[in-house]
Amino acid sequence: MRIGLGYDIHRFKKSKKGFFLLSGVRIPSGFRMDAHSDGDIMLHAVSDAILSALGLPDIGVYFPPGKPQTRNINSALILKYALHNAKKRKLKVSGASIVVVLEKPKMAPYRAEIQYALAKLLGTTMDKVGITFKTFENLKPFANCAISCMATALLTEGKRK
Ligand code: MG
Repeated sequence: MRIGLGYDIHRFKKSKKGFFLLSGVRIPSGFRMDAHSDGDIMLHAVSDAILSALGLPDIGVYFPPGKPQTRNINSALILKYALHNAKKRKLKVSGASIVVVLEKPKMAPYRAEIQYALAKLLGTTMDKVGITFKTFENLKPFANCAISCMATALLTEGKRK
């Protein structure tokens, strides 16, 4: 059994017809992520948690920011890489717990869709994936300027579903 912790933060950029991604789910917003990749912060934090549980370095080592080959990269590919490394060691994700911090929009209407999407990507079920949304309590400079995410992943022996 292994446990890993991951963290990520991205700046928000104002955008009239914007959206940002959480586990591949499009969240309509007046902001978009400032990112070299597709900016899917949740998949970045979860991927780092899995790699950390395996004693491996962070995703920036495998998918260096600023390189042409990682420009606008679909972060599901980053997660797949982390899962591939777990599978090589005969480990699967048995649980993931995530905290996302952002001021708006209110995320409750999107929770189930995000939970389902992440569980599917991890090869597990929704009841093994917990997602908590918090705010920055309007604290500058973070409120409406950034989104951050923390994630833990529990890996146990066995095959993915
Ligand atoms: Mg990131």
